[in-house]
Amino acid sequence: MVLKPNQRKLVRRWGVPVLGALILLGAADLWKTSFRLRGASGGGIGTSSPAQKRLLAKRCRRLYQEFCKGEPDFGIGTYTDPTGEVWLDSDAEAAAAEAKRTDPHWIDSIYSPQRLARIADVEHWVKERLLEWIQAQPATVFKARDRRELTNRLKSTKLDLPTLEQGYPDEPDLLLQPQALYERLNSGNKGVRRLRLGGAYVLGTSSRFNLIFTLSHELAHAIDPCELRSTGWSIASFDRLSACFIASGIAETPSNRLECRRNDQLSETFADWMAVQISAQALKQWGSEYPEPQRWSAVGNSVRDLCEEEDEASEFSVESHPPSRVRIEKILGTHAEVRAYLGCEPAEASPCKLE
Ligand SMILES: [Zn+2]
Repeated sequence: MVLKPNQRKLVRRWGVPVLGALILLGAADLWKTSFRLRGASGGGIGTSSPAQKRLLAKRCRRLYQEFCKGEPDFGIGTYTDPTGEVWLDSDAEAAAAEAKRTDPHWIDSIYSPQRLARIADVEHWVKERLLEWIQAQPATVFKARDRRELTNRLKSTKLDLPTLEQGYPDEPDLLLQPQALYERLNSGNKGVRRLRLGGAYVLGTSSRFNLIFTLSHELAHAIDPCELRSTGWSIASFDRLSACFIASGIAETPSNRLECRRNDQLSETFADWMAVQISAQALKQWGSEYPEPQRWSAVGNSVRDLCEEEDEASEFSVESHPPSRVRIEKILGTHAEVRAYLGCEPAEASPCKLE
């Protein structure tokens, strides 16, 4: 029987920085941005000159420009941080297609043992952090039964990597796509929750920070407020969080104000918000010794997938995803630990919290 996923949520979508955006940045700023992203500039946080401090403050005010409009580090569509790379979607897709065309064992080559081991390792780490996060919340946030339900949902969401013989038999196109998916099945294996990774994503992503954000985002869909509600569950603290997202303009809902209907942004906003909480821990755990340039590249690669190609915006589901600028500046950019990590002043707007 063909399995039909009825919940299919994407995080990945970003693209080539277009010429217009580069012109907007201005030549001088562009040079500084790319120079710093290459990790070539010296000076750590706290040792800056007044001019460097002014530049840092400017960068902190325009995180979207920093992370989504800077040019790739090597001019060939590759963004690097100390843990690895993130390729442009278009390059990763082309490489996956080329592998299929020229390599009889292309599935094995793309989903290589080394890449699968790295992904499984990250997925395990992310899931552990999410489970800890649930346990760490006070009773005012989660009742005991909420805790049990969320824990069960996360534990039952399995990383589903393709078989080497068949790939993804029910979603063959995914083997060439730069996507990560959370899916809940409603027929066949009813109730099964799984994470799937497209071949272009696997091929083009070796950055630990990107893998952590992406897998956190997808796993968070297993417990997002709309996903809970669609299976007859709701949690008061999540409803308060959702209300904050809407009130602060981070998530828009259709004009009839009914939440969790088609095209609603609450699911995606929640998944981004959760992924930022987990990414902040990852930056602390692996990136605490980095000098300033590497810190920016680590955060940039964490949220690289939230950037969109400008001419792609109408094609992508902007109705279900908040605009890239909102996702970067209002969800990531208001997180106190992420800002401190980058050397930025605290955000003017306070972030939405569970309590
Ligand atoms: Zn999503």
